[in-house]
Amino acid sequence: MEIRFLGGTGEVGRSAILVNDSLLLDYGMLTGNPPQFPVDSVNPDAVVVSHGHLDHVGAVPSLLSGDARPPIHWTPPTEELTRTLARDTLKLHGGTYDCPFTEAELERVAQVSNRHGYREPFEAAGHEVTFYNAGHIPGSAHVLVDDGETRLLYTADFHTGDQRLVAGTTARPDADIVICESTYSDVEHEDRTTVEERFVESVETTLWEGGSVVVPAFAIGRTQELLLVCEAHDIPCYVDGMGKRVTRMLRQYPGFVRDPDALRRATSHARFVTGRDGQRKRIVDQKAVVVTTSGMLSGGPAMTYIPAIRGHPTNKITMTGYQVEGTPGRDLLETGRAEIDGRIMPVSAQVEQYDFSAHADDDGLRSFLESYADASVLVNHGDDCAGFADDLRADGIDAAAPELGERLEV
Ligand SMILES: [Zn+2]
Repeated sequence: MEIRFLGGTGEVGRSAILVNDSLLLDYGMLTGNPPQFPVDSVNPDAVVVSHGHLDHVGAVPSLLSGDARPPIHWTPPTEELTRTLARDTLKLHGGTYDCPFTEAELERVAQVSNRHGYREPFEAAGHEVTFYNAGHIPGSAHVLVDDGETRLLYTADFHTGDQRLVAGTTARPDADIVICESTYSDVEHEDRTTVEERFVESVETTLWEGGSVVVPAFAIGRTQELLLVCEAHDIPCYVDGMGKRVTRMLRQYPGFVRDPDALRRATSHARFVTGRDGQRKRIVDQKAVVVTTSGMLSGGPAMTYIPAIRGHPTNKITMTGYQVEGTPGRDLLETGRAEIDGRIMPVSAQVEQYDFSAHADDDGLRSFLESYADASVLVNHGDDCAGFADDLRADGIDAAAPELGERLEV
């Protein structure tokens, strides 16, 4: 089997792996200014997508330019999320170099889409492919690829621990080669129950003191997780931004969430913001909790809420996800100020961070890899893939961290 890494090596973003020059696994983008895309143009015979996050699907519609119509294989939520993200990319960057595809290419997605459930093998570019629940976000999959000689397991993003929205991964299909993500290889997550308790107590304290709480959250996965937390602890909350649409969409796929009834309750518990008639201003004035995009404060209705509440230390901003370097969210955590909507703003409101991660930490990655003691491990999707590969080798595991553009015969 030949494997080529077109992105996602030593970085979190633009994941793309070409197998046997014919089967493409993921085709993402690296958000930033400007965004970056997988290296080299590809013309795959088929595409398999692990899950609906921008760094895995962001450039997928561009594979349908010209006469190219490779079939695309994914779970139903992954297809829906890809469309949502692609529409958003068109809205933000359409017609510029920062958008690698056109409206017409996005429309072609329907012609080539093949939806699959977990543990239902299918054929793609002459390979047998099977999805297994990766416990990361709804619809997320480990991808097992068998070319008749070699079995490759592409873990993609996964979590071994349970979240309210999705249960952790339990599948460990046999494989000769494992391409393993390493987003949190140098982190030990605080126990999830403890994180949740601290978050709830902090939010309740602020409300009791008469403050507002803005909860920046990624639209996909994190927003729903926080709505589930709010419902479980009876914290009244609003939800705003792209997370609203994603929440409604996920309700259509109960088989891909851990507890569909809980998601239904959480959805009716939260108040969906329309943004009409100055509603956002009223929400801020009435002292409330707002779960809103964007998770790293780089856009979305958070741009309205943060300036409105930043001036008073009774208010609180609770970051709930990984903050990429150079984003306003990261700057805010590190310096107490951030560029919001083109203006550098000092923030007097309290700023806190909670680790509601959807990725395995160091322990989780290692416990997953325990099932693959005899396999070769290729580490990708992390800031320090080489470091994690070194650690694994020190533990006797055959591990390496491929470079960008590298072609491996395995
Ligand atoms: Zn992901």
